[in-house]
Amino acid sequence: MSGSDIRIFLVSLLLLIIISISGCTTKTQEENLSQIQQEPFQPVQEQTQPQQNIAPQAAQWKKQSVACNGDFFDTHAHFDGLENTGEVFGHGNAYVSLTPKELAQRMSEHKVSCGILFVSSMDLNKDYDSMRESMQGINAGFLPFINVFGSSRGDLSLDVIKNAHNGREEAFFGIGEYGFYTGPLTGTSLTADPWPAIFEYAAEKDLVLMLHPTQLQANEIDTMLSKYPNTKVVLHGYELLSTPTLLENLLRNHKNLYWTYDLATMFDGYLYRTQNSEEFILWYDANKQQYLRSARSKLLPLLEAAPDRVMWGTDLVAAWHVEPAVYNRLMEFSNELVDSLPAEHQDNFAYANAVRTFGSTGIKFEKL
Ligand SMILES: [Zn+2]
Repeated sequence: MSGSDIRIFLVSLLLLIIISISGCTTKTQEENLSQIQQEPFQPVQEQTQPQQNIAPQAAQWKKQSVACNGDFFDTHAHFDGLENTGEVFGHGNAYVSLTPKELAQRMSEHKVSCGILFVSSMDLNKDYDSMRESMQGINAGFLPFINVFGSSRGDLSLDVIKNAHNGREEAFFGIGEYGFYTGPLTGTSLTADPWPAIFEYAAEKDLVLMLHPTQLQANEIDTMLSKYPNTKVVLHGYELLSTPTLLENLLRNHKNLYWTYDLATMFDGYLYRTQNSEEFILWYDANKQQYLRSARSKLLPLLEAAPDRVMWGTDLVAAWHVEPAVYNRLMEFSNELVDSLPAEHQDNFAYANAVRTFGSTGIKFEKL
């Protein structure tokens, strides 16, 4: 080879090396690209893994049915203790929540076989195990209701309720209690969003809707009950009793309306206005006779208006409400009130109307 031939050879060799290196580089980039394109699929594979883990966990719990055949059926009790945010919806944060286990213990001692339980939670996806744990090994049946709000608290929507209900249909009998007297619902309308969608969903899924309106919503109840005749609505609260005949007329006109007459309402709120068992017992022992008379006189016209849709309840929420000395008095009062009613109303008010409205079984959970 001449000198120029060698130069040409060397240049060609160099070019070949450059081309093959850049070829390699291209291939490596392609490999990298294909790895990048695969990456979005990896989280999906990762998601499948925990789901496979969740299934056996869920199977560790078994729902059990409890027959509601006692002397009473409590149509109104709260469980706010699932929420670990230090704030409790509807009741300020003045109370330490009762536990379903303690409540069930008292219930079984007093032949209260079943109870509706409003379960407050920010996120049932997170809290469901805790709910099942708290309803395990008990001697009473509960009928849990979904009492959730959105993450920003004022954010009640149908989606928030659906998200709590989906996949947990076995555990829930209703939606509520949603109170308009406090928190994000204060001053809002019952005919505006999200209520029309929630009324429809409740009817479609056979969930009972439990509301505590104020006088502001009282005029809207009629509209909503007429518009959604297949939605079962249970109301409670002193506000509706303060306008004479309002509630009686609503009960007469709407067969889808039910009323819980609970002890907190019967006691003009003294179950909440007293701060502990000592205070309550002092108040109760001094006022029992007077309140037996007033509760009976408010209850009778309601039972006459809707003999099969007016039901006994407690509105218990605080741990001290289920101390034996308090619960004994609540049931002493309830038994005397029921005994003072005309015979045809006694069983209906104490439990039979509730059984007809909500069914004859509550639930509890057992760990497998
Ligand atoms: Zn309540």
